[in-house]
Amino acid sequence: MRVTLKEITKRFGMTVALEGISLEITEGELMALVGPSGCGKTTILRLIAGFETPDSGDILFDGQSVLGVLPERRGVGLVFQNYALFPHMNVFQNVAYGLKFARSSGNVRDRVRALLELVGLEGLEQRMPSELSAGQQQRVALARALAPNPKILLLDEPLSALDAKLRERLRIEIKKIQKALKITTLYVTHDQEEALAVADRVAVMSIAHIEQIGTPQEVYHTPATEFVARFIGRGNLLTGRVAQRDGESVVLAVGESAIRAHAAHEIEIGRLVTVLMRPERIRLNQPAENILLGKITEVEFAGDTLWVHVEAAGNTLIVKANALDSSLHEGDVVQLGFAASDLYILPSDRRSPPTPSPEL
Ligand code: ATP
Repeated sequence: MRVTLKEITKRFGMTVALEGISLEITEGELMALVGPSGCGKTTILRLIAGFETPDSGDILFDGQSVLGVLPERRGVGLVFQNYALFPHMNVFQNVAYGLKFARSSGNVRDRVRALLELVGLEGLEQRMPSELSAGQQQRVALARALAPNPKILLLDEPLSALDAKLRERLRIEIKKIQKALKITTLYVTHDQEEALAVADRVAVMSIAHIEQIGTPQEVYHTPATEFVARFIGRGNLLTGRVAQRDGESVVLAVGESAIRAHAAHEIEIGRLVTVLMRPERIRLNQPAENILLGKITEVEFAGDTLWVHVEAAGNTLIVKANALDSSLHEGDVVQLGFAASDLYILPSDRRSPPTPSPEL
């Protein structure tokens, strides 16, 4: 089933929750919808499920408008953050409840057993929800949502109530199950790392708007806007003025320094641009096309990684270094090395007007 949202606008009183939202989830795709709290993620999900009606725009399943189709007739399975299992029913009954309204053929017992096997809970049919761990409860919720064989699966922060380790494990399992069933899925999360890990494509939202839709690699490496660059992953954003153009690269004046950056598009001399430099692209104290001198202000230990904060070119830059490197200390002067192709000039900055007199 293909899900299309066309120019959706939704207001709650004075609040514009969604403004001109368009997106398409292709058949069998897992799309993650990620964005800060209150940006409208849950509203999109509720519109697709049929619990809300848009003020304008259309929602289509396989090209057919579903506006006016009742939620129970939309063939949508839902999983929420807080499991919402029936506390007085055991695991079997909870999952079988999901089958109650389905015009399903075949034996209920076999179907429930198959679903519990799918979510890794075989043998726990008789347990009550209170006798299950948080992760197991969420697996039951998933099995119950999948019981009627929905064409679309909507997951709203399904792992938010779980601890970090369990979240990492369950997101891999959800992805596996989704791929096995080939079910069109929208996965709402505020956690950008989770979105990158599970999704075929990620839709990044700011308040009421979609900023970019792309593969995890696209939104990470080539963010469409500064908002996406800041929201997805860790990064350094530098502002520089184009001082020279030279084939596929430009020389940028950043503070007192000059750095060479790859420019995928034509950019005029004198234009002010924002450049993204990911922390893992910077090498410390090694020869490179670009070198910035800086001073370490902090070394943050993160187990397998050192996050090194460096004052350079009038900015505090974050660098990802090898955790085994014991030579990095606060106060040390270091060289930051990177190639022109390690820098990404944000496209939205092409809209800013050039100034006539470049500084270099
Ligand atoms: P969170 O990550 O915190 O759950 P969200 O991105 O899912 O947030 P929504 O729940 O979709 O955001 O809310 C979007 C905006 O619409 C918010 O400003 C919210 O306060 C508002 N809103 C949502 N539902 C209602 C409602 N029923 N009545 C009034 N305002 C609402």
